[in-house]
Amino acid sequence: MATPSDTDVIAAIATGQGRAGIGIVRVSGKNLRGLAAQLLGAAPAARTAARAVFRSAAGEPIDDGIALFFPAPASYTGEDVLELQGHGGPVVLQMLLRRCVQLGARLAEPGEFSRRAFLNDKLDLAQAEGVADLIDAATEAAARCALRSLRGEFSEVVRGFAAQLVELRALVEATLDFPEEEVDPLDREDAGRRLARLAAELHRSLALGRQGTVLRNGLQVVLAGQPNVGKSSLLNRLAGEDLAIVTAIPGTTRDAVRQTIQIEGVPMSIIDTAGLRDTEDAVEAIGIARTWDAIALADVLLLVVDAREGVTATDRAIVERLPQKLRPVTVFNKVDLSGDAARVDEGSEHAWRAHVSAKTGAGIEGLRKALLSLAGWHPDGGDVYMARERHLVALAKVAAALERAAQSATRTELLAEELRLAQRELDSITGEVSADDLLGEIFARFCVGK
Ligand code: GDP
Repeated sequence: MATPSDTDVIAAIATGQGRAGIGIVRVSGKNLRGLAAQLLGAAPAARTAARAVFRSAAGEPIDDGIALFFPAPASYTGEDVLELQGHGGPVVLQMLLRRCVQLGARLAEPGEFSRRAFLNDKLDLAQAEGVADLIDAATEAAARCALRSLRGEFSEVVRGFAAQLVELRALVEATLDFPEEEVDPLDREDAGRRLARLAAELHRSLALGRQGTVLRNGLQVVLAGQPNVGKSSLLNRLAGEDLAIVTAIPGTTRDAVRQTIQIEGVPMSIIDTAGLRDTEDAVEAIGIARTWDAIALADVLLLVVDAREGVTATDRAIVERLPQKLRPVTVFNKVDLSGDAARVDEGSEHAWRAHVSAKTGAGIEGLRKALLSLAGWHPDGGDVYMARERHLVALAKVAAALERAAQSATRTELLAEELRLAQRELDSITGEVSADDLLGEIFARFCVGK
């Protein structure tokens, strides 16, 4: 992907698609006073909501709304930002956006406002990722966690590690720079202790970060089972009190049939196999292909059967078509009718078997726990960070470098090199050092207008 120019004036509709009470077009650039004057008659006073008529080139009103002007550098992007709050109709917003383009703006790429915020030191890279994660959060827990990253808590932890490394490096590099000097400023024991302390803190952050990725990615669950065995009743039970915020993932009409429930804030995306059948209908076939794509990426198979009948030949036929890597949970539902005792057992290789009743709730708590454990959720009470895979990989590399550093404590040059590596990895998290393609990759996943 070509890197967009970071000096153009950019504009985008920042609010969601469709009809709404209010819609916002956002503009950012080095100097927007001229653009504002042509569009509104005059640039509004800084940071003050101003009633304004947005006008076309011919002076015709496009909309009547509120304009907010944030002169550089006190704005989200660090440049001049103009926010035009109009009526939230798709056509009127398009007209307003087109007018901004006519006045010299170009359409913003996804995430480009945040990219500029990063380039102008308004946010570091981990914070910018927190912005996207907050917008994408599927549960309240994930949203809270992303907000902590956005506000810089995770970055602070990373910077704390970096600061400790810098002190250590200063000691080590000094011995390298002045090898012939008699005094050795490096108190090896002290360095060893510092290293060990840093490594311990790092491992704890890595664990909290892993929990954050569970909140972010959740668990992808393939749901299978014959009609009437109680699949919907079971999902409702599993979601429990959180049912009110169960969401259907929006997609095209015949997208993979998917709904999200949450268990203790961990999103579980449920992919229903009910629609999987051979079809001549081209549109339906697209939906089915999407369902298969989703299944290919799933983690767990939730096979629901009637406890009175057990796993039937039809169930087996479906399971055989599913990827073998799915970790199976077989749910024997309706134990209130079969007379079996409710229980949940972990068999070999995480092949869970749960005997439950969606009707009475018997065994459901155990099943919830089993699913959370399969998701990898075991918070130890600490504040979970919304870390991304990229951050975890970097932290793990830092941990490995520190371990090697501890082993080369007597060979100063190796020690110095490992510490240098560790610091570079830490800096990549907050973006102090970052390749342009990494920036492109990260910001391209944002929504337009953010
Ligand atoms: P689905 O077609 O697999 O989604 O099944 P539903 O959830 O719609 O349930 C089918 C029927 O079985 C409904 O009448 C439910 O009330 C009933 N049902 C579901 N779970 C249980 C259960 O654990 N015990 C009993 N007795 N009935 C259940």
